[in-house]
Amino acid sequence: MTSVPANCLNTLCPWSGKPVQADSLTEYRGNVVGFCNTGCRDKFEQAVRQFEELLAAEEKASGA
Ligand SMILES: [Zn+2]
Repeated sequence: MTSVPANCLNTLCPWSGKPVQADSLTEYRGNVVGFCNTGCRDKFEQAVRQFEELLAAEEKASGA
């Protein structure tokens, strides 16, 4: 049995409410966040990446 590291922010998957699994962790703004399976994690990573790209584009547009 694998256990989730103590520095993981959440204990339940935000998508399903199921317990976080040690093999389904990722990093968000310097913190460890967990999910109930790798599919949920990948869904989160994909969403975050999309928002970060939008933010980067916006900053580029309003910067300079
Ligand atoms: Zn899940």
